[in-house]
Amino acid sequence: MNKFEDIKNFINNLTPEEIQEGNREQETENKRLYLEFQEAYSKGCCSLCGMKLDYFSPDETCFHWFLKPSGIKKKYFKEYLSEDIGFFKLESYFRWLAHIEKPFRNINDLKSETTESKLLETTIKYKNIEWSLNYGKSDLEGHKNSKNANFPHFHLQMLVDGLPFIRFNDFHIPFSKEDLFNIELLKEENVLFQNSQAPGMTDILENPEMLEKIDEHLTVAENEEDASVHFGTMIKMPEGKTMSGDKIAEIIEESRRTKKTVRHLMKEHFPEANIVSEVTPADGVPEKKKRKKR
Ligand SMILES: [Zn+2]
Ligand SMILES: [Zn+2]
Repeated sequence: MNKFEDIKNFINNLTPEEIQEGNREQETENKRLYLEFQEAYSKGCCSLCGMKLDYFSPDETCFHWFLKPSGIKKKYFKEYLSEDIGFFKLESYFRWLAHIEKPFRNINDLKSETTESKLLETTIKYKNIEWSLNYGKSDLEGHKNSKNANFPHFHLQMLVDGLPFIRFNDFHIPFSKEDLFNIELLKEENVLFQNSQAPGMTDILENPEMLEKIDEHLTVAENEEDASVHFGTMIKMPEGKTMSGDKIAEIIEESRRTKKTVRHLMKEHFPEANIVSEVTPADGVPEKKKRKKR
């Protein structure tokens, strides 16, 4: 029996109570780590190493290196990224940074936009930096016949001011044992990963429950760049009834004044109308950066 089958058996033998308990513990731990992160961040510090986020010393590797502290150069990443720094931990760190700047809209992890050959593909934005992480089946298996990449790994791109600082093909970053365990978990149908501390677009757009919750509290964004989602709305009046242009203009005006969405106001004013909405990511959400085939 191989290692992955062990994991599968382990998962399948868990009782619902054990799963719930595990989830609760994980949730508490995540919350604690995020609070630590928040606390350090408010002082301009890194919660992992305790140093200022702009501190750099070649011997003291840390996730905050990905914030490009002054003095850092790409060559310093060579040794650092030959270690298994932890894909999921790194992704969380990026998510937290993105979330603390602007909730939701800085994280494009939409499954519907994931390239078919990729198992996971995420683009995360923070200030003038944008990280993209991905791996596909051949990365997970290790590129056969490759000298420097024949082990399970992921790829990372980092743009600063829109220009590449790290390119996808610069490094093959090895997965840690914990990563491989998590990846196996992800394959199981009954396992769902939730990024409860720093949800991304997938948690909004691809999770109906969450979508409803957000919709309730939705207000109109002052400008398009601050919006997380677009609501494209189609309104159909019942046969024989019409909606006057004046009334519509009134509603738009009211929406401007009250910050309530037009869609909500339509429902209030025309309860008999059939309102169909289509939700799409807003323009400010970072576009997923994809790795091109060589
Ligand atoms: Zn640090
Ligand atoms: Zn690869």
